[in-house]
Parts: sequence; C-alpha cells; structure tokens
Amino acid sequence: MPETLLLKNVRPMAGAATDVLIRDGRIARIAAEQNVEGTAVEDGAGAILLPGLVEAHTHLDKTLWGMGWVPNSAGPRLIDKIDNERALKGALGIDPARQSARQVVQSLRKGTTQIRTHVDVDTVVGLSGIEGVLATRERYAEVMDIEIVAFPQSGLLGREGTVALLEDAMRLGADVVGGLDPCGIDRDPKGHLDAVFALAGKFGKPIDIHLHELGLLGAFSMELIFERTRALGMEGMVTISHAFCLGDPDVAMVDTLLDDIAALDIAIMTTGSASRPVPPVARLAKRGIRICAGSDGIRDTWGPYGNADMLERAMLIGLRNNFRRDEEVELALAVCTTGGAATMRTADYGLAEGCVADLVVVDGETLAEAVVTHPERRLVLKRGRVVARNGEALVAAP
Ligand SMILES: [Zn+2]
Repeated sequence: MPETLLLKNVRPMAGAATDVLIRDGRIARIAAEQNVEGTAVEDGAGAILLPGLVEAHTHLDKTLWGMGWVPNSAGPRLIDKIDNERALKGALGIDPARQSARQVVQSLRKGTTQIRTHVDVDTVVGLSGIEGVLATRERYAEVMDIEIVAFPQSGLLGREGTVALLEDAMRLGADVVGGLDPCGIDRDPKGHLDAVFALAGKFGKPIDIHLHELGLLGAFSMELIFERTRALGMEGMVTISHAFCLGDPDVAMVDTLLDDIAALDIAIMTTGSASRPVPPVARLAKRGIRICAGSDGIRDTWGPYGNADMLERAMLIGLRNNFRRDEEVELALAVCTTGGAATMRTADYGLAEGCVADLVVVDGETLAEAVVTHPERRLVLKRGRVVARNGEALVAAP
C-alpha cells in the first residue's frame, strides 16, 4: 500500500486555496476539492503552504541550546572568539551529538527540513564534532537532511595536522570542504586556499568558505578563490559564506566581484548580519547569483542570539537590506527557501507535482505577512510525514 496523505485547504505560496495529495513522500496532485477514500487527511485551515525552509549555514556541533544561560565574555577580535571557544568547549562540556540533536529538533519546530552545518575540525577537538553530528544525522535521518562541512575553525596551516584531520573528516562522511578567512587567520591566503581546493579535488566535493574579511582584503581573497575555481573547473561547486566585502560602499569594486561570482556560478550565503556590511541581496539576485541564508551559530560562545527560525531570518535579511515592498520581502523568503536548495543542489525541491513533500504550513494572508509575523508553524512535513505540529516537534530532543 502506498503511503498517502491529503492536505486539505492550503494556499501554495499564499495563492488560491487547494488540496495537495501526497503519495510516497512526494506531491502527487495539486487540485481543489480532492477526496481520496481511505487516505489520512490534514486540514490546513486556509493557511499558507511553503516548501521546507532551508538552513544553509549553521554550527550544530557547538550551540549551547538547552544548557542554561552562559554569560558571554569573549574579546572583540575574531581570534579572541576562536580561542575563547576552544577553551570553553571542554570546560562547559559541549557535547556535539547532544547539542546538534537539540538544534535539529528546534529547527524542525520552525519548519526547516534541511540543514548545511559547518562542524569544527582542529587539533584539540579532532574529529569529535564530526562524529557527534554524524550520529545526529543518522538518528534524525527520517526527519531532517543534514549536510556536513568539515570546518577548520582554528585555521588550516597554523596548527600542524589540521589538513590531515580534515581529510579524515571527509573520509568519515563530511560532504563539503570548509575554509576560513585565508588572510586573517592563517595569514597565508595562497597556502590556505590551495589546501582547501586540493582536498575538494581529491574527494570530488564542493567547497564552502567563511569569508569575514572586509573591503579590499576580502576582495583580494575572493579573487584568489575565483582563480582557483576557474583553473580547477569548479564552477558551480563553491559557496562563499558571509562575503562581507560585497557590502562595501565601493560599488565599482563590488560590481567587478559580482561579475566573476556570476560567471563562476559561486553561491553566496548571508545571515543579514546587523553588525557588518552585508551582500546586497537584490543586486545579487538581479544577476542570477545563487543566494542562500543561515542562522550561523545560535546561542553559542560567539554570541547569545539566534533561534534557528528561518522565517524570522528572512525578516532580518529584509530589514538589513531595507526591503519594504511585498515583492522585496518575498525575495528575502526565497533566499531562505529556493536559494538554499539551489546552493545545496537539493533534488526535486519545491511545490510542483512530483517534488519531494518537504512542506511547511503557516498562517498569514500573504507571504510578506508570514515573514514579518513568522507565527508558530501549524504543520511541518518531511517526505510527506508530519514531523511537527502547532510549533512542537514530534520527535524528542535529548
Ligand atoms: Zn559560520
């Protein structure tokens, strides 16, 4: 017997009310007034139907979610935060398996159905973060798709043995090779990026690089990324996360960078950071550049903020990009849905017949209203099965 579910009275992308028949985890038929005998029925009560939200950049291994309030005492520089975190990980007992599971369940409550997580690999934690998140991926495989980036949070070249550990992480099951501020952290941009691209080439995997570097320094690192992407034929396989230099007021410099980003089909991830220059989402979208969004770390030693709600994230991106018109707010939502799926190359994503039934039902008259109010999610479905209802996940967190 095929597993079927009839979702009655929902409005796909806030359009006209209709019914959605789901069979074997996929959208089988979208048509009004369907009645299928013997099929389980869920009433959408006229709410909006969205494809599953996409968390395209977070750090599951080190959230403090559920560990009580930990006062933040990190210094002002990036390296202060990295050192602070490395010290606190052991002191606080941040267990990557437990903590990643807690965040996965929180994401599920908020309607996220797939996650790309960067996971620390360094000479202190070794592969324990990767192993913990791999365990969570297996445990929650039915309800969440998790893509793992092997992330050299403490640099790649400064601590001997990190490259070999990253290689081990890829062998264990990481999906993407990570990198970090090639100038600012390793102070050897060429060496850092050569190592990252070599690993990606060796394993035939994509790359996702954290690039916080501002202005001309960030532009310089980007150019080194472009050179390697082009030379190694890695078009379409590279993501640059944060890309703060694209928020630089030097429009001519940014336009030149955007030319290469579009030509090399590089994806850009933004959190809509309130405290840094950010990539101008509308300008990128106009050029057809893939843009995705993430919460980045939530409630961790880096900062006390975040709740893994990608609808709220769409609002934050809208605020940061001065989006006011409804179609602009809808673009911010697209970054948190289709943009994430395009970055992670998710197969059969969306609301068309035949697509995988990763779905969210949320109240709102229009898409913009749903973003602005981001109310409790009525229903969340993963591959056609209800996994959260009225804001609560149907799976337990540790
Ligand atoms: Zn990050």
